[in-house]
Amino acid sequence: TVAVRRRMKGKRKWKKVVGILRDLEEACETPLGRLRQMVDAIAVEMQAGLVSEGGSKLKMLLTFVDDLPNGSETGTYYALHLGGSYFRIIRVHLGGQRSTLEVQDVERHSIPTSLMNSTSEVLFDFLASSLQMFIEKEVFNLSQPVKRELAFTFSFPVKQTSISSGVLIKWTKGFAISEMAGEDIAECLQGALNKRGLDIRVAALVNDTVGALSFGHFHDPDTIAAVVFGTGSNACYLERTDAIIKCQNPRTTSGSMVVNMEWGNFWSSRLPRTSYDLELDAESMNSNDMGFEKMIGGMYLGDIVRRVILRMSQESDIFGPISSILSTPFVLRTNSVSAMHEDDTPELLEVARILNDLGVAEVALKVRKLVVKICDVVTRRAARLAAAGIAGILKKVGRDGSGGGRRSDKQIMRRTVVAVEGGLYLNYRMFREYMDEALRDILGEDVAQHVVIKAMEDGSSIGSALLLASSQSVQTIQSL
Ligand code: BGC
Repeated sequence: TVAVRRRMKGKRKWKKVVGILRDLEEACETPLGRLRQMVDAIAVEMQAGLVSEGGSKLKMLLTFVDDLPNGSETGTYYALHLGGSYFRIIRVHLGGQRSTLEVQDVERHSIPTSLMNSTSEVLFDFLASSLQMFIEKEVFNLSQPVKRELAFTFSFPVKQTSISSGVLIKWTKGFAISEMAGEDIAECLQGALNKRGLDIRVAALVNDTVGALSFGHFHDPDTIAAVVFGTGSNACYLERTDAIIKCQNPRTTSGSMVVNMEWGNFWSSRLPRTSYDLELDAESMNSNDMGFEKMIGGMYLGDIVRRVILRMSQESDIFGPISSILSTPFVLRTNSVSAMHEDDTPELLEVARILNDLGVAEVALKVRKLVVKICDVVTRRAARLAAAGIAGILKKVGRDGSGGGRRSDKQIMRRTVVAVEGGLYLNYRMFREYMDEALRDILGEDVAQHVVIKAMEDGSSIGSALLLASSQSVQTIQSL
């Protein structure tokens, strides 16, 4: 009969969709053995990137930062942070003790998308005018002229030439301002500030991970690495200068230097890549670049999930007629993925609401459950790969308990703090839980108990101001 035939057809379609989900799960698998291979590959690539310029997909950029803040800094400093989705302006006051750190003002704005494809003039004038407004609002006792010093936290890959200068290597995270690669970023901002007659000196140019490390170290001197899980993803860590072989004359006062890994560009043929990742990469503004970031960055997780739902809706009608909204790249944001993933209403009402916003009307509860499962698979893979990244750093510095590095067993088990910053980690509980769990599994309980992951908010911006303060108070390192 017609009813039976319809039921059979429905079953076939459902089977097809379940097949798509199974394929996804299989392609995203990250068993412990595979994660351990990733850890080894990351440590090997780190080494290669330190030996020669271009020796690895990991750029392992020098930062010229050798002394990290320790709490004794004094003065008032500003930081302007250009991130992936937001920019922030802050002013901090330091009284010479950890407890006297005062974050006096914070302003946060989302970055207009039009700015991401504008010109360097438009971008820097926008930043300068925002800073001008921030300063004009200040209510100080101006009996003496104020000499303002600013740290520019710039969350993109930069080849630093000193702690306060460096050129942009390439845009990431959807930014595309063509004439800027090769430009000195600090100079561009300084020029825009001067044009507006602002008496502010851009005295430090800092990657967001380095800001986060500074903030972490300020509060806890056992902090040796920092990772950002935000729109993009990256890590930096403290390396011995004698291990930075590509740098001919690495004289620093402390014998170590912070290295900005730019791990978003990590690549290994063992990474669990799906057809959705391939499509996303091919259609992106920076295809063949930032392969790791495209699997773990907040900018991309939503789009991977969207692509899976789109494929399912093309191959069956469980989502109703194909929605044109769903075909729009990046329309599904990662915060919606986390809201769907963590929807604890029995009817999955949040999932229904978000699907509705995507032009998918009324879907059955079992279809909503399927969507939650897609979010779970994509986020779990991201979080586990992120954990492998952190373990890779620990391995490289001999703190993973494997006996690597040049340290004694006693040192290997030292307390090690990794500062973590970024909305993906801070706001997405499931990402956090999966990552923490995978890290424990990779390291084993004995080692994991010595490793502390410390989450922090606004650490990159505040930390950059702290770094600026400490670079003013200590002898800056000699040029390389
Ligand atoms: C950039 C890094 C940055 C990271 C996190 C990446 O896209 O290349 O420099 O640290 O995003 O914001």
